[in-house]
Amino acid sequence: MMGKALVIGCGGVASVAVHKCCQNSEEFGEIMIASRTKSKCDALAEKLSGGRTKIRTAHVDADNVEELTALIKDFRPDVVLNLALPYQDLHIMEACLAAGANYVDTANYEPLDTAKFEYKWQWAYRERFKEAGLTALLGSGFDPGVTSVFAAYALKHYFDEINYIDILDCNAGDHGYPFATNFNPEINIREVSAKGSYWENGHWVETEPMEIKRVYDFPEVGPRDMYLLHHEEIESLALNIPGIKRIRFFMTFGQSYLMHLKCLQNVGMTSIEPIDYKGQKIIPLQFLRAVLPDPASLGPRTKGKTNIGCIFCGKKDGKEKSYYLYNVCDHEECYKEVGSQAVSYTTGVPAMIGAMLIMNGTWKGPGVFNIEEFDPDPFMEALNKWGLPWQESFSPELVD
Ligand code: NDP
Repeated sequence: MMGKALVIGCGGVASVAVHKCCQNSEEFGEIMIASRTKSKCDALAEKLSGGRTKIRTAHVDADNVEELTALIKDFRPDVVLNLALPYQDLHIMEACLAAGANYVDTANYEPLDTAKFEYKWQWAYRERFKEAGLTALLGSGFDPGVTSVFAAYALKHYFDEINYIDILDCNAGDHGYPFATNFNPEINIREVSAKGSYWENGHWVETEPMEIKRVYDFPEVGPRDMYLLHHEEIESLALNIPGIKRIRFFMTFGQSYLMHLKCLQNVGMTSIEPIDYKGQKIIPLQFLRAVLPDPASLGPRTKGKTNIGCIFCGKKDGKEKSYYLYNVCDHEECYKEVGSQAVSYTTGVPAMIGAMLIMNGTWKGPGVFNIEEFDPDPFMEALNKWGLPWQESFSPELVD
């Protein structure tokens, strides 16, 4: 049965998700792309016109709940796919409740004035979604998203108990700039300049930013430096994976990126505290965003691969075992297919898949759910079909 989806936002990730919805026209009969800058939605709709998926566009301020509600009531989608920024999550959830639509996103809510991302604000909507008979699926990108589906899949098929999870996010892409971020610079820099943390024996252990470094030899990529970061899926996996003792998240960074970031931090350019500039209040990080390359412009220049996955250690039938699930994605291949680099691609594909599974009722609530709470098998199958095939190893190199 063909469904209707409303995509909010028209940046790097949304562009890939919309391409994928159009490839999957058996499921997505009609989509509406609505964002702050309507001309971007129109340009994308124009590029993809002529296929079987009908595309409409609209302007929307996703911080305006009334405007959003009216748009959802008018279009009557089976699912709203939020691909704007984390700041809009709660407004879009409110509008979904008011207009009676299911909700999917890829990143948890973050208040504008504190770089602190936690699920508590969105989990507070559980009862209201349940009472309304609606489903909200949180975190349907790659990490969070695929990494959490990997955890549910490992638990379902290979373990009685998972005790340790290391999530490894490697981007070995080279865009040729001394410093640029692969997705929204503001979100990216807020994430990497925050303190690190991991989950161990029932509580958080906090580290200084980039304090813990390891080197890992990634399949199809080779050895890379990686650093421990706080990451949002740790919070929900700690609750949803029984018997868990430790969850860590590592991301690779090159020396040039780190050196520039350090310098920008030292001079105050990554601050989110407003400052006075010629009688005007500006936020240094937002100004920095305006001078950095637009992530969308990196597509044609990025070469190399990403490798993102999880290493699980635990027990099956009383025996210790380890298992590594990962996906390798090639920046240039992604660009050839949908005109975006792999970081947008690896997020946009799972966003489309999550929206599809909610839209066609394979995954049903009602309530607010993190992605690992649903049956992972249909999602894993769809990853292979829609461009993110996964690979597995039963004797992986472990991270100490
Ligand atoms: P972009 O900045 O490229 O795109 C964001 C889009 O949202 C833009 O089109 C922007 O409009 C639009 N937007 C922002 N504010 C509003 C508003 N108030 N009303 C309407 N539209 C608005 O970001 P990305 O595509 O890189 O990221 C999208 C989301 O995906 C983010 O939440 C990010 O955190 C998440 N993400 C998740 C990952 C995962 O693996 N889970 C990985 C990477 C990203 P305009 O065009 O006018 O600027």
